[in-house]
Amino acid sequence: MNKIIYFDNNATTRVSPEVKEAMDLFLTELYGNPSSIHQFGGQVKKHLEAARGRVASLLGCQPEEIIFTSCGTESDSTAIYSALNTFPEKKHIVTTSVEHPAIYNLCRYLERQGYRVTYLSVDEEGQLDLDELEKALGPETALVSIMWANNETGVVLPVEKAAEIAHEKGVLFHTDAVQAAGKIPINLAGSRIDLLSISGHKLHAPKGIGVLYVRQGTKFVPFLRGGHQENGRRAGTENVPGIIGLGTASQLALNNLEREQSYVGQLRDRLERGLLERIPDIKINGARARRLPNTLSVSFEFVEGESILLLLSDYGICASTGSACSSGSLEPSHVLQAMKIPFTFAHGTIRFSLSIYNTEEEVDYVLEVLPGVIKKLRDISPFSSASSAR
Ligand code: PLP
Repeated sequence: MNKIIYFDNNATTRVSPEVKEAMDLFLTELYGNPSSIHQFGGQVKKHLEAARGRVASLLGCQPEEIIFTSCGTESDSTAIYSALNTFPEKKHIVTTSVEHPAIYNLCRYLERQGYRVTYLSVDEEGQLDLDELEKALGPETALVSIMWANNETGVVLPVEKAAEIAHEKGVLFHTDAVQAAGKIPINLAGSRIDLLSISGHKLHAPKGIGVLYVRQGTKFVPFLRGGHQENGRRAGTENVPGIIGLGTASQLALNNLEREQSYVGQLRDRLERGLLERIPDIKINGARARRLPNTLSVSFEFVEGESILLLLSDYGICASTGSACSSGSLEPSHVLQAMKIPFTFAHGTIRFSLSIYNTEEEVDYVLEVLPGVIKKLRDISPFSSASSAR
């Protein structure tokens, strides 16, 4: 197998060596249950609370506002159901047309259960119109849920302003910050955001650990009921190694925020520039919007994203498509459809997502390989006669 060039960090990230090292002790030696009365358990509890403090520092909030969950999806579901159960008489949710399935498919399901959902539109750059949000809110609205940054395009949405608008109308505000956390600064203390989700495996902690932030004073109804863990807000024995890992990963992410903006941003821009110079008939999605520094969504006209991925995979290059074709459907993703990306482009969309562990050499390797891959596919495409890579 070739050396792996991993440009799929919005799907999941490698666990940092420091995170792994911090976790090891809690798998082998400090394996006690933090709820136990004995000192051994109490020792683990202290470390767990220290990790909570580190996550709180990354988010600019208080440790008591952090609830550990099993993943971003659980945090998203908990937030939405908590709002709906807090205001059972309110049957309306406002979200966007570009949310991750963790929110989008849940909202689709809730519609079948009798809720009304408004999916705010986006423009061709993937950006929201806040006037549309304001108009959508009413006395029936239980919650607004708007993602901080889009997982496919990296487009950053104006969640702090949106939270203010929701608050003015007395509506709770949740944001799915799974892709934003660790990549751009987050300061919850200075915002009106009530609920926020993050996920460990997107910021170099392991899979199976997530966080739901609940602003102090926000009415909250638990999703998992049972034991008294997490102050009665989320039952189930804590995933201590995962929590310790996320604590360390949060500290590293905070220390590396500057590097994420500059180093990772420069790598992404080098890749973007290089592709534009070398391959005709391509489109960078969300290019004029504010984007996460690590994400590049690029559409190649007249080719299929899956075919590009398969050929790149032969070179050890890992990326993702921007479509939902993994489910066997040939429909472009709901995000690209919402952005009205023309069909011939949307089909050939690839998402490259980088991290601090990537290098310039890796970017240059992709720039060397990809033009040939696109040319090969365009040469056999029934739709493309004139088009080919330069
Ligand atoms: N929200 C966003 C924006 C995501 O990108 C993802 C994962 O891709 C999730 C939620 C789900 O997170 P998890 O895999 O931890 O359930």
